[in-house]
Amino acid sequence: MDNFLVGWEEWLALPELGLPALKIKTDTGARTSALHAFAIQPFGRENKPFVRFGIHPIPDNPDIEILCSAPVVDRREVTSSNGQTELRYVIKTPIVIGDRKWDIEITLTNRENMTYRMLLGRTALEEIAVQPMESFVQTELSYKLYDKIARQKPVKRPLRIAILTREPNNYSTKRLVEEAEKHNHVVELIDTKRCYLNIQSHSPEVHYDGKPLPVFDAVIPRIGASLTFYGMAVVRQFEAMGTYCLNSAASIGASRDKLAAHQILARHRIPMPTTAFANSPKDTDSLLNLVGGSPTVLKLLQSTQGRGVVLAETKKAGEAVISAFQGLDANFIAQEFVKEAAGSDVRCFVVGKRVVGGMMRTAGTDDFRSNLHAGGSAKKVILSKEEKSIAIKSARVLGLTVAGVDLIRTQTGSKVLEVNSSPGLEGLENISKKNVAEKIIAHIEKSVPSTNWQKRSRK
Ligand code: ADP
Repeated sequence: MDNFLVGWEEWLALPELGLPALKIKTDTGARTSALHAFAIQPFGRENKPFVRFGIHPIPDNPDIEILCSAPVVDRREVTSSNGQTELRYVIKTPIVIGDRKWDIEITLTNRENMTYRMLLGRTALEEIAVQPMESFVQTELSYKLYDKIARQKPVKRPLRIAILTREPNNYSTKRLVEEAEKHNHVVELIDTKRCYLNIQSHSPEVHYDGKPLPVFDAVIPRIGASLTFYGMAVVRQFEAMGTYCLNSAASIGASRDKLAAHQILARHRIPMPTTAFANSPKDTDSLLNLVGGSPTVLKLLQSTQGRGVVLAETKKAGEAVISAFQGLDANFIAQEFVKEAAGSDVRCFVVGKRVVGGMMRTAGTDDFRSNLHAGGSAKKVILSKEEKSIAIKSARVLGLTVAGVDLIRTQTGSKVLEVNSSPGLEGLENISKKNVAEKIIAHIEKSVPSTNWQKRSRK
């Protein structure tokens, strides 16, 4: 780089780390460049290691915190100017000074009190003339660049993602891992049931196998119905740690409680089959009338996969089922039977503000329930604009980012049967031929913040 001069002090940018401006000092006494980072945590596999760290790029403003991650190229013993030797992670990343951009190696060290967030060592300055008496020979940048950063598209960086699941080997889990790894992210599978929580501490933690879990960039909760209560507590704890959770604990709770979900959907005028709920046996008659008399569909509120869903063909049958449910102290809802659906329903897979795939499920002969687990079969479907918009709105009002919204096609339009917060990928990807797992990972990339802004009190 002929005729490229730098002063002893310069501004530079580290674009791949999402750092638009750093004031740095050249340090020709040091071989390698150093970046002052905090919360330095390695992750990934031994043959593909990464490191995640935080930086306060503006020395006298710790309110601005940028989270970075990068592949590790080496670990090296470094003796700093105060004579201390330390084993440091080495990353390789481009720097930009003035109109030049080149790759350099940088070691990470935790010395927050340094005036300069970065020292530029000899190996980064090869073929560059340092003017030891001059400051800011190249373009001057400004910390004002950080004002805009929260609104910008986050830089692509390797993310550390946890999937909360009890089924590490099922299709959905495997596909999410596969797509995340294709995008250079690292996924760890966490068995929800084996997590335990430290909720008293000032800094909330999730423990696992005797150790606190590291900070993840994102958590994908895949919580089975039988573990809703505990799973929600684990997700809530990750939220308290500031981790981005694909579906929040509150949204998982809202969708699992079928009655609450129906009430929320109704409040937002989302079409549903006429549905009623009661407690006392005295109300059975009017309850059945409310939903249009027989035949009636009766659903246990705890039902999944169609197991607690019964079709009562006659009023007598309806009364008998209700009395049986009440005898068991089980909560249930009564719903008008949508005969014209002919045992079919439509699953819409929502990610963010889009429907990314759909399928139609049809019941096996002599059943009205279309659940695949109950012997139904699935086929391709073309979703109407209306159906997509109902599905997206249903997920939104329940607060779900990822949702499987089941619709039933009636004479008066498509209506919501239920909203699932951990929808499976297998049937859906196979039938719709859509790469749903990739859509989920792309949504996470878009949503994980790399900047932590603590609101400053106005002076
Ligand atoms: P689960 O949560 O147990 O899957 P659903 O409410 O989704 O319960 O019902 C299971 C299946 O039963 C649905 O997929 C649908 O095929 C059928 N079904 C449910 N409600 C009705 C209804 N009101 N009319 C006709 N069929 C229904």
